[in-house]
Amino acid sequence: MSQAVLFEKVAFIGLGLIGSSLARVIQAQHLAKSVVASTRSVKTLQDAKQLGLIDAGFHDAGEAIKGADLIVLALPVQATQSALEKIKPFLREDAIITDVGSTKGNVVDAAKAVFGENLPKGFIPGHPIAGSEHSGVHAGKVDLFANHKVILTPLQGSDKEAVQKLIQLWQAAQAEVICMDVDRHDEVLAHTSHLPHLMAFNLVEQLASRKDNLDIFRYAAGGFRDFSRIAASDPQMWHDIFFANKKAILNAVAGFEQQLQQFKQVIENEDSQKLMGMLGHARAARQHFNHMLANQPLMENHTVTQQFTILPGTQKFEGKFTVPGDKSVSHRSIMFGAIAEGTTHVTGFLEGEDALATLQAFRDMGVSIEGPKNGEVTIHGVGINGLKAPASALYMGNSGTSMRLLSGILSAQQFDSVMTGDASLSKRPMERIAKPLRLMGAKIQTTGEKGTPPVSITGSQQLQGIHYDLPMASAQVKSGILLAGLWANGETSVTEPEPTRDHTERMLRAFGYEVKTEGNKISLIGGEKLTGTDIQVPSDISSAAFFMVGAAITQGADITLEAVGINPTRTGVIEILKQMGANLTVENERIAGGEPIADIHIRGTQTLKGIHIPEDQVPLAIDEFPALFIAAACAEGETVLTGAAELRVKESDRIQVMADGLKLLGIQCTPTADGIIIQGKGKAGDWSPVFAGGQIESHHDHRIAMSFSMAGLRAAEPITIVGTETVATSFPTFTELATQAGLLLQVSNI
Ligand code: NAP
Repeated sequence: MSQAVLFEKVAFIGLGLIGSSLARVIQAQHLAKSVVASTRSVKTLQDAKQLGLIDAGFHDAGEAIKGADLIVLALPVQATQSALEKIKPFLREDAIITDVGSTKGNVVDAAKAVFGENLPKGFIPGHPIAGSEHSGVHAGKVDLFANHKVILTPLQGSDKEAVQKLIQLWQAAQAEVICMDVDRHDEVLAHTSHLPHLMAFNLVEQLASRKDNLDIFRYAAGGFRDFSRIAASDPQMWHDIFFANKKAILNAVAGFEQQLQQFKQVIENEDSQKLMGMLGHARAARQHFNHMLANQPLMENHTVTQQFTILPGTQKFEGKFTVPGDKSVSHRSIMFGAIAEGTTHVTGFLEGEDALATLQAFRDMGVSIEGPKNGEVTIHGVGINGLKAPASALYMGNSGTSMRLLSGILSAQQFDSVMTGDASLSKRPMERIAKPLRLMGAKIQTTGEKGTPPVSITGSQQLQGIHYDLPMASAQVKSGILLAGLWANGETSVTEPEPTRDHTERMLRAFGYEVKTEGNKISLIGGEKLTGTDIQVPSDISSAAFFMVGAAITQGADITLEAVGINPTRTGVIEILKQMGANLTVENERIAGGEPIADIHIRGTQTLKGIHIPEDQVPLAIDEFPALFIAAACAEGETVLTGAAELRVKESDRIQVMADGLKLLGIQCTPTADGIIIQGKGKAGDWSPVFAGGQIESHHDHRIAMSFSMAGLRAAEPITIVGTETVATSFPTFTELATQAGLLLQVSNI
């Protein structure tokens, strides 16, 4: 993609791996009228000319920068001061001066030594988080920065336009630009880059100095190879970095030593439970943050990394499946197990990112949790007063359930806490839970714009029981209030306008806590204890819903979904599909862990018909509407949904996003303030395609992605769904099971 010329003349001081990679971008996209460089050796300049990277080379840095409107220092950080001294007398007043050094505090110090406290307005330090073990002008690559982050650390007096221009430059290199404070940069990098490099150098040095080093390296396992790869980096560069960021690195090393000491001690003491706890914690943290490491930028704005393509022509849609465990029950099993006395053993736990966020949060609050392994988790409860202050903000990922329920729990603790979330969660309303908690005496703030996360809580408040009339049906708000009520004086009660999911009430009872339900009013009395128990998490009806809809719209389909939770507050999708005429039977009903479960059998034998969805079913099917909209599009006649305003503030505005997608696939529909009207294209007895092909944006909403996947069963052309990486949040095995059933689904990384 070619861009407009951004600069008159760009001068590189230093043109090795990093400098020459940026020069390659500038040349390839004609971003500057001329590019020059100054390096230590003449050879580098000659090579750079031959490679077509520069128009002229200079031995003297001052000469090189004359007339330049962008100067890039791309040399070892230790050489910054002398380079700035050389160029100072020749600087254009409006010149932008940036650098690529791996440390920032010492670069700013070097600039102050040269310019005094009033640094040039165009001085904007930077650091591309990309590189390799190779160095020199030949090692550069035009795509070195693509899909990597670049941190800029503008200073107080830095010119905003200059910052914008640099952002444009790095974006042209396909990098994602993040602005950060200098000290924060050095601290973060000390932990995430400098410490791991030091550890790699240290390990290789330790093993290489042994007498039997030949054997050690000859028989080294993959772990050693992976871990030690970065010890092959340039010693000079790392020598400079270790000195340049001395303070922050020594801090990071001290933390490492302390942690290592802990590991040493538990191994010495053969403390098996503690060691498992520590290893499990680290493993879960690596999994929990994996999506961040893999694709999420430091400043939370989502990147799209994956898409589904559904090909038309599915011949069958059949089979018996066990979909993953219920998310709501999984979350609560960890929360209640953690604050219970004794051990709780959970089976069927959903190992999706959302439930793992809850698990991580409780580990961060000092709860020892083993697993999850094949859906099994063992929680060593710390009792109602046993949670400990987390070391830093609790990261809730994409999970609204975790944040709203934990708001209640954290409001009652003796310590302060902060909860943050990813881009999508950061847009979701939190005042609806904060308000009633404040009435109970909680000090809770929603510090994002518009009452959104981060949520900040000041501890040590004695909560008082209240009665609260929920203004809108929400199981999360109800649960948050009831959970705060566990620590409150007296009775806490909630009245809901319509019944919502009652997993909290059922599970509290399973943990031996008395909860009263009288009509729409639920109440409990604070100050009692929970007792650890065994929890079998039922299969999630929300996940089953995609396959139920898939089978209902596909001729000859025959799908059985086993051990699905059929809690009456969740079965709206079954009722609505039945009313639409689906051939659906609920078989083998039984009770597991306080929750009713059954096998759901559904066959594609007749065309669905459009209905006005009864409003009393809306809260009972709130998460299943994206899938039900696909069913409505395949039905004969009009389907009308009202009373579902809640759908507009889910992971996405599900009414608008679904309406946009349906229209794109040729379905007529009208979104309304609290619902949608869909003109079904089905005709009795006719199973021909109703959807056209097209490209759907999931808006990072897993349920949107999976719903439109099912539309592929009745599409004339391929449907591509962009942004499907979030599917793993609730249904890690979706693609595997859908493909087994017969859906022609391809996953590709983008
Ligand atoms: P490199 O490949 O070794 O290139 C360094 C360049 O600087 C060479 O052109 C060299 O000139 C020149 N140079 C070295 N000492 C100099 C001095 N005293 N005065 C003037 N020029 C000098 O290094 P690099 O990997 O591009 O690293 C450059 C900067 O990027 C460093 O500050 C480093 O911290 C940062 N960085 C590196 C990485 C990475 O993975 N390598 C990643 C992010 C940031 P000659 O060619 O004539 O020797």
